[in-house]
Amino acid sequence: MKKILNYINGKLLEPVANKYLDNFNPATGKVYSLIPNSDEQDVEQAIAAARSAFEGWASLRNTERAEWLEKISEGIERRTAELALAESIDNGKPLWLATSVDIPRARDNFKFYSTAIRHYASESHQTAEGVINYTLRKPIGVAACISPWNLPLYLFSWKIAPALAAGNTVVAKPSEVTPMTAYLLSEICVEIGLPAGVLNIVHGLGHSTGNALISSDNIDLVSFTGGTATGAHIAKIVAPKFKKMSLELGGKNPNIIFNDCDFEAMLNTTLNSSFANQGQICLCGSRILVERGIYQKFKDAFVAKVENMKVGDPMSDDSRLGAIVSKIHYDKILSYIDLAKEEGGTILVGGNSVQLDGEHKDGWYIAPTVIEGLDRQCRVNQEEIFGPVVTIQPFDTEEEALALANSTGYGLACTIWTNDLKKAHRLGDKVDSGIIWINCWLLRDLRTPFGGMKNSGVGREGGWEALHFFTEPKNICIKYT
Ligand code: NDP
Repeated sequence: MKKILNYINGKLLEPVANKYLDNFNPATGKVYSLIPNSDEQDVEQAIAAARSAFEGWASLRNTERAEWLEKISEGIERRTAELALAESIDNGKPLWLATSVDIPRARDNFKFYSTAIRHYASESHQTAEGVINYTLRKPIGVAACISPWNLPLYLFSWKIAPALAAGNTVVAKPSEVTPMTAYLLSEICVEIGLPAGVLNIVHGLGHSTGNALISSDNIDLVSFTGGTATGAHIAKIVAPKFKKMSLELGGKNPNIIFNDCDFEAMLNTTLNSSFANQGQICLCGSRILVERGIYQKFKDAFVAKVENMKVGDPMSDDSRLGAIVSKIHYDKILSYIDLAKEEGGTILVGGNSVQLDGEHKDGWYIAPTVIEGLDRQCRVNQEEIFGPVVTIQPFDTEEEALALANSTGYGLACTIWTNDLKKAHRLGDKVDSGIIWINCWLLRDLRTPFGGMKNSGVGREGGWEALHFFTEPKNICIKYT
């Protein structure tokens, strides 16, 4: 059975205590590899390696670090097919999705930051004749980067690339649920000869390995993407030490649909924004709010399309949805479907697990599910489910749509469908979300600020925001007359 190894100080290493965890293939429900169950010793080794590599890495020119990032990007490009297959097996997502989105995006994250750092500049302000302020933006030190399982390599690289580009060294922990592509990334780093200690990847459980990493006094900043409860726990540990922190957390995103939208474009995109990656994207719209005039038309058309979405083997090109990432998560999603029934909801389509045949009979599959009739305040409309489950709710006025959209503790992303420009701008301005899409969804530009408000997080990733986060500004004022 394949054994994943830690990547510390340029070497692929067994965990010090030689303990391993099972890694499951969600499509079959079977263990298919082992991953290190790393403890504090591994974490501290990785931090020490990152610390001793820091000075050398930070003192490289931006263009030299950019070249290393390009080499990583090219390494990902060379191994795209292998990485996509690994991502699909590890996560349960359709292979076509990993091939067309996850891996190209991971490649592009390194490519993007290899170019961004070449163009990154700090400010200077002439205060008066003979007085100038200039700002240095210095790398900070050892960055702890922790990422979730839903877009494994894509989100892992979204942190690592800007951290390295800015001149920090990194200790990263991928989710224990989906470690494989992070391991393959470490192989790529070995292949290209990335200087030892610049990037270290330690595998293991969140509450032990992850906790040891964020609790260490020897790291300098934390970039975390994951659930809101984990984010709160990390903040409690890291904030009193006054270390920089970026927290990208959960969402309960509204998808607001007005009578005057382009119905077909809205319908097709709403299928994606509801169920892409089995609904396990933090940006998926899980609360669909529809203006009364087209509510029935939308409901009929949406349900008919959802009924035809195939749940199947992730390797198969015609599977629209693959497997749910883990048994724990599968049970959680099904428990929310039960809760929806208790809370008085009507299941319009789905609402059940799906059993496939043959080697997939023990895999974790759930039918795309649409629920109506739930109150805005009920738990199913308030809590993040993070699966192929959406609710639909009618509204009568723009004010009501806004109140519904803002009625949760989250504020990550929102989609608005209308052809009325003024209304689109008004709502875009007023909805409490860090990211608003109007007449589109997941149309990404890596230069834009990415992140949420309220319980969806603190700080922003993307573009200059990430480079600002991963550097410390120092202002120098000089009087030269
Ligand atoms: P978790 O919060 O459970 O885990 C995220 C990462 O943190 C994992 O690597 C996990 O390790 C690790 N972790 C868990 N506990 C600790 C701890 N005490 N100390 C340090 N690290 C820890 O989230 P999920 O993996 O379940 O991911 C799903 C969540 O991520 C959803 O809420 C989703 O909305 C959110 N998300 C947010 C995004 C955003 O940009 N805002 C983007 C994508 C997802 P392990 O898995 O090994 O336990």
